[in-house]
Amino acid sequence: MISVNLHRRSFFVTIVTLTLSLSGAAATVPAADWEAGVAKIVITPEEPIFMDGYGGRDHPAEGTLHDLWAKATAMKAPNGHTVVFVGLDLVGVPIKMTDFVSAEIEKRHGLKRDQLMYSCSHTHTGPALDHNLSHMLDMSDEDWNKVLAYQDRLNRKVITVIEQALADMKPAKLEFGNGRTNFATPRRPPIGIGPYDHEVPVLKISSLDGKTLRGLIFGYACHSTVLSFYQFSGDYPGFAMIYLEERHPDTVAMFFAGCGADQNPLPRRKIELAEKYGRMLGIAVEEVIRDPMTPLTENVSSAFQNIDLAWDHVPTTEELQASVASSNVYDQRRGKFLLDRIEKEGELSPVYPYPVQVWRFGDQLTWVTLGGEVVVDYSIRIKAELGQGKTWVTGYANDVMCYIPSERVLKEGGYEGASSMIVYNQPSPWRTGLEDQIVETVHALFEKTRAKSE
Ligand SMILES: [Zn+2]
Repeated sequence: MISVNLHRRSFFVTIVTLTLSLSGAAATVPAADWEAGVAKIVITPEEPIFMDGYGGRDHPAEGTLHDLWAKATAMKAPNGHTVVFVGLDLVGVPIKMTDFVSAEIEKRHGLKRDQLMYSCSHTHTGPALDHNLSHMLDMSDEDWNKVLAYQDRLNRKVITVIEQALADMKPAKLEFGNGRTNFATPRRPPIGIGPYDHEVPVLKISSLDGKTLRGLIFGYACHSTVLSFYQFSGDYPGFAMIYLEERHPDTVAMFFAGCGADQNPLPRRKIELAEKYGRMLGIAVEEVIRDPMTPLTENVSSAFQNIDLAWDHVPTTEELQASVASSNVYDQRRGKFLLDRIEKEGELSPVYPYPVQVWRFGDQLTWVTLGGEVVVDYSIRIKAELGQGKTWVTGYANDVMCYIPSERVLKEGGYEGASSMIVYNQPSPWRTGLEDQIVETVHALFEKTRAKSE
């Protein structure tokens, strides 16, 4: 990983709290073992619906290369605190889905929002979803109705897979380690030059005696954009999970996207390349689990907070009407989308409730989870500030509302800093200051979870 001094800490950041939840019973020395449960469920659409990821798609899927999955690992610490990781072969994580599923899981199992992490692979050969991004697609009302019906079935499947993981709970050994693989390539011009994060975080879940491998959670910071055709697939992460599950037949392998918003797998566009990168990632995971790993022996505590991230500018009705008249089809769609919102809600909010989550396994491992398409600068900075080798950063999680540029990328502009906001139907680029606001929140939750886990 290249670490560049790109950041200056600002002490003029005000964090506006919308919601804050924190849990994790105070613990002393763990007297019991960890418990864990794993589960997986197919989420490939039963009918050919529209696919997400590329705005130019003009017809529904034509088939399936390999199945898409929702997978879950439930982990119960020695002090009884439970956290559940969910990995999804999807382009994003709709906020309507996480709100619905989290409310159901709290009602049925008493788990709070901070105890649930919803991540995705960001596959660009997954289905359209009930979220902003899918409004960039040229879908008829009938197409939309199919997507909404799929979303409804998907929500229920995500609840099911979480419940199956909770029901599978048994004494377990949890270990973590970090590997590396190098196909992620900085994609902002000049392509191939710039910061990257080649780390492959791995969490291994096995039977208490360590003899039976039950689950592998692993991540990588790179766009899942090898494939762009009309077959459903999990792209390179899908192939990585297939590679690992073939070698370990009773194991559930699950993936999370890191801060790879400005990284692409290059070269790309061939199935053989998706398979190759999947194999490279799978081999990196195999190398980690073959060597001694660090057992998690402390408890976990968890915290979740939505912060108000401000848009740089909230467009007026007149400005949006000008967008509708624009020659750019995405600008037209965004204009209509936001005018509809004004009609329904009366106005556009000047801020977005942005989710930040921290799971802290004592002093051994800190797992930071950020919403949106997060650029690699966040990963580099957060790992440097919280501890290299014992900090993981998941992006694309809990809600994927648009790109999350660093201060550097915001200033430079381009796709991740500015123009992608149009396909995401957002009012404008973010206001300057978001990077410090997000990282200060990570630090605040890090301190809060420390207080809880000690
Ligand atoms: Zn993306």
